[in-house]
Amino acid sequence: PFVLLSFADITDIQLAKQQLMATLSQLHDSLDAAEAANKAKSEFLANMSHEIRTPMNGVIGLTGLLLDTDLTAEQRRFAETAMGSAESLLTLLNDVLDFSKIEAGKLDLDLIDFNLGGILDDFAAALALRAHQKGLELVCWADPDVPSFLHGDPGRLRQILTNLTGNAIKFTHQGEVAVHVSRVATDSSPSSCLLRFSVKDTGIGIPAEKLKILFTKFTQVDASTTRKYGGTGLGLAITRQLAEIMGGSVGVNSTEGQGSEFWFTARFGVQTRQDSEDPPKPAELNGIKTLVVDDNATNRQILSRQLSAWNMPVHEFADAASALDALLHAADQGDPFRLAIIDMQMPVMDGEALGLAIRRHPRLSTVRMVMLTSLGSAGDARHFRNLGFDGFLTKPVRKEDLHKCLAGACGGPMPGSAPKPHASRPPHVQPIPLQGRILLAEDNPVNQEVARHVLDKLGLTVDVAGNGLEALNALEHQPYDLVLMDCQMPLLDGYEATRQIRAGKTPHSSIPVIAMTAHAMQGDRAKC
Ligand code: ADP
Repeated sequence: PFVLLSFADITDIQLAKQQLMATLSQLHDSLDAAEAANKAKSEFLANMSHEIRTPMNGVIGLTGLLLDTDLTAEQRRFAETAMGSAESLLTLLNDVLDFSKIEAGKLDLDLIDFNLGGILDDFAAALALRAHQKGLELVCWADPDVPSFLHGDPGRLRQILTNLTGNAIKFTHQGEVAVHVSRVATDSSPSSCLLRFSVKDTGIGIPAEKLKILFTKFTQVDASTTRKYGGTGLGLAITRQLAEIMGGSVGVNSTEGQGSEFWFTARFGVQTRQDSEDPPKPAELNGIKTLVVDDNATNRQILSRQLSAWNMPVHEFADAASALDALLHAADQGDPFRLAIIDMQMPVMDGEALGLAIRRHPRLSTVRMVMLTSLGSAGDARHFRNLGFDGFLTKPVRKEDLHKCLAGACGGPMPGSAPKPHASRPPHVQPIPLQGRILLAEDNPVNQEVARHVLDKLGLTVDVAGNGLEALNALEHQPYDLVLMDCQMPLLDGYEATRQIRAGKTPHSSIPVIAMTAHAMQGDRAKC
């Protein structure tokens, strides 16, 4: 086939070609400009993050120290409110920063080996207070086929879980929030696994027509919800992006007025040391016939599953009256329960009343009792021991705490004798006293003040250097155990000062140096 082109056609084509080239070159220029703008935006964010975090550190640090002093009730309320506001500001700042990092393609995962069980325990314990203050049950469990020793980014995983669970608590007024981890069935690789995390609530739910837009940024279901509940509408957008970076996806099922289920999947590496590390079944609990009474079905299910895994025969009851009947019936049959795990917060007859009824009953004197409560406070353990309980646990219960508490309750002297020292206590964090001399290199006076007091409280001796030069000077004249090194300092910054320490400019060139920086952008950790 021939195409006959006139001279005019050829001129047109050449003209068109020239125009095309010009357009391409313009596009190229705008792409360059866009890339430059994006880079400028990231740099601006990195700087802004630094600028805002520095004073926030002062506000949060000093308010924390203030709260550790003797205050009147009113002063304490003011300081706590200030702390709460500062913390929400920091969350907001982190959300905005995360979102910009994702948009600029600058968010990368910090991949390490971790234990999923530990992450779930910690995260549930951190959110339990918020749930219990609203009278909600918070339950969290993983299926038995979910491997525990994984490789991935535990910090980001925790961030998503905290975000979804925080929302669930926020939008639920009664009932429960259940967090459940399962392995996606289609996945059978030995070296990696796709996990599904589900956060189910019995809250206000979401209208069907709004479900689609939820995972887009700055979206909230409606403006009045925003006013009532607060929030930025960034959380779910970040959640989606993080799940996608982790090789998974997100979704939601919801019925207005009944509740919602938010879920996400994420892929993790599976560590090879999996099975050998599985803790052995505690022999001391083997075969102990146990009764669990809790009005919350999910809670009963989780407890039963755990106890069954330890070879303990379990019988579940939803209320105190039927539990008491069952205890008496079993005693009459000559096959008594040896242990009763009793939830405190139950309607009609609560756990304390049930415990008293059991202790008053002569036929039930051999039953060991463990109290399970959502609202732990300092004197509880003693209070319940005085009532005749053999152990005390606050929900959500960690596996190890459950084991220790049950072993203690079943192994100690008979009920009614002297209180047992090993009965489980509420999980108060005891600061471990430290010893040693620390050099703090930090130029900002407010941060100096905060760090000095915090280290002081930990029992450490602290000297302060205002810049890198002062730090090197101090290291020459005094032996230290560790240096806390701010990265941005005048005269000599933390990077250069550390380089000089490592190069042997000071006597102890392998001293541990911990970098402190408000820069939270990709590469900062690697640079340090
Ligand atoms: P926010 O900071 O506003 O909570 P999110 O992106 O986390 O931002 O959530 C966006 C909106 O989705 C919320 O404002 C709320 O309207 C809705 N939402 C999220 N989780 C739930 C839930 N569990 N129940 C009901 N509505 C929810």
